[in-house]
Amino acid sequence: MSVYQDKAKECKCCGKHVPLPVRLKEFNGIKVCPTTFDNMLEYRRIWNEMGKRPPGNIRKHFSDYVQKTIELEISKNINVSD
Ligand SMILES: [Zn+2]
Repeated sequence: MSVYQDKAKECKCCGKHVPLPVRLKEFNGIKVCPTTFDNMLEYRRIWNEMGKRPPGNIRKHFSDYVQKTIELEISKNINVSD
């Protein structure tokens, strides 16, 4: 097993990657592949811009994992600021 195959196991976004991620990024302590990381930032940016959960025609471009992670983060932030 290569070092990349080992690292890819840390990426929780998807079980199978072709190609495998060779470098992982960290989002709030979660290790994810660069594609998912970028998608998370973009999904969060859109959410903040709209001030609410983006509509389905935008959400469909993001994986369930990305949506859930950002929604969890946002719900936590809302609780903290209350
Ligand atoms: Zn991934």
